[in-house]
Amino acid sequence: MVKADAYGLGAAHVAPALHRAGCRHFFVAHLAEALALRDVLPDAMLAVFHGLASSDPAAFAAHGVAPVLGSLAEIDAWAAEARRLGRPLPALLHVDTGMNRLGLGAAELAVLQGDHARLAGVDLLYVMTHFVSAELPDDPLNAAQRARFAEACEGLPPAPRSLANSSGMFLPAPSDLARPGAALYGVNPTPGRPNPMRRVVRLDAPVLAVRDIRPGESVGYNGVWRTARPSRIATVGVGYADGWLRSHSNRGAASFDGMAVPLVGRVSMDLTTYDVTEHPAIGPGSVLQLLGPDCPPDEAARAAGTNGYEILTALGRRYERRYIGA
Ligand SMILES: *Cc1c(COP(=O)(O)O)cnc(C)c1O
Repeated sequence: MVKADAYGLGAAHVAPALHRAGCRHFFVAHLAEALALRDVLPDAMLAVFHGLASSDPAAFAAHGVAPVLGSLAEIDAWAAEARRLGRPLPALLHVDTGMNRLGLGAAELAVLQGDHARLAGVDLLYVMTHFVSAELPDDPLNAAQRARFAEACEGLPPAPRSLANSSGMFLPAPSDLARPGAALYGVNPTPGRPNPMRRVVRLDAPVLAVRDIRPGESVGYNGVWRTARPSRIATVGVGYADGWLRSHSNRGAASFDGMAVPLVGRVSMDLTTYDVTEHPAIGPGSVLQLLGPDCPPDEAARAAGTNGYEILTALGRRYERRYIGA
């Protein structure tokens, strides 16, 4: 999955790296995302989750992009495009097994199961569905969705199946094509258990300034943090305009030399402040790790009241980005 600019990391770099590693199936959400990657992935399957709903079928066909079809109207439009061009066109078929967002619902599925001719001209690459709670292995919905999906596929033309997202790969849910996203980028697909994936993302912030403050003084907008002791405050040039969410205010920590450095005060647009009283070695130019081996996205997410996905997809455009080994 390289949607949302490869989860905020830069699809133009991430997608070719995945391709060099052998990946030949890529998914994005919007057609525009697929078109931006077509040149760097000339021989790969490029599929668009949002399907034809908002775009011209001719644009998909012209660039060899496969829509994920999730309604009879889309199936009909794609089959018509294939007839118009006089050649089969690739697509995936999305069956809704419980998410209730996109994909064929029960009524439309039944119609299609009774009328396979509707898919004439469609080169059906995969039939897919999407788990509701794959990261909760004990949720009974996982098994229910597997059963509904198997039943749906029984009544459809034979095609390879695609089931698991990152967490789904750790469930007993074998299929022909898994669709991992977050796990590739270091988010823990097995919450509550050790992360089996590498921490591939790192966010370092150099300290711009350090100052000593007296007991009773506050730090940052609205003085939401006030110290009771003589303190040293380090300011870094990262703020909510960089996707360092304002909900981090007064919560969580960066890391310095493996030690936790608490975030204090309000996160502002361009600046965030840390209490470095316990870390006399920190001065201007010292580097705090905001994300990385000591600060996994899942932990930053916990502090900010969100998930690792939002931490990554929020990563801002002002950072200097380095792709190491990619
Ligand atoms: C985003 C997405 C995925 C990937 O999910 P992760 O949890 O990031 O692995 C898989 N399938 C669909 C339909 C998606 O929208």
